[in-house]
Amino acid sequence: MTVRLNGEASKTVLLDVDGTLCANTPRLIEYVRQECGIELAREEITEWSFSIPGTDSDIGELLHRAIDERPEWFLLGMAPIEGATEAARWLHNQGHTIRIATHRPPESHPITAQWLEEHDIPYDEMIQEVPRNKGLLAGDLLIDDYHVNVANALAAGKAGGLFVQPYSDPSVCSSAVIAEDWSTMLSALGRKPQVAGEADAEGHQ
Ligand SMILES: [Mg+2]
Repeated sequence: MTVRLNGEASKTVLLDVDGTLCANTPRLIEYVRQECGIELAREEITEWSFSIPGTDSDIGELLHRAIDERPEWFLLGMAPIEGATEAARWLHNQGHTIRIATHRPPESHPITAQWLEEHDIPYDEMIQEVPRNKGLLAGDLLIDDYHVNVANALAAGKAGGLFVQPYSDPSVCSSAVIAEDWSTMLSALGRKPQVAGEADAEGHQ
């Protein structure tokens, strides 16, 4: 299923955070370095459960521990993915509803909201309790970097956009838009090519 976001109809867009709006792996790699003395490469994070080489620490457990123990340092220190702010502003200006749908623990949502504000990323709602199956959420389109989430959205009849990361497997959601950056993602969803500093074809700044 596909969706076009440049038409008259307002859509509800479910937006993931980690790996979609923000670059989560650099901070995680730094945390692993501090905790385990191991230098992980981004390309080594090909799934969210594996033992850090030479240790008995699991990458997924470390991720949760970083959010639990040092949430401000960990979450506020992440940089936006290139084009994420502009993409959210475009969605907002097109009249779509943006619902933030992250599997971060609910108690960290105020920090995520602060991060979104600091990076001028507009949104309409932060969903407080996101089920494991994001396909259960109300919305027309899910943009996410985890193939399981996108596959669940597709199975529920929604459109999907998958950000390619080392840990994502596009083969399980081939009917989604598959993109490595926001520019490609939005072009596939209907945004006209942008000219820097000018209004776009729909007349929005
Ligand atoms: Mg994610």
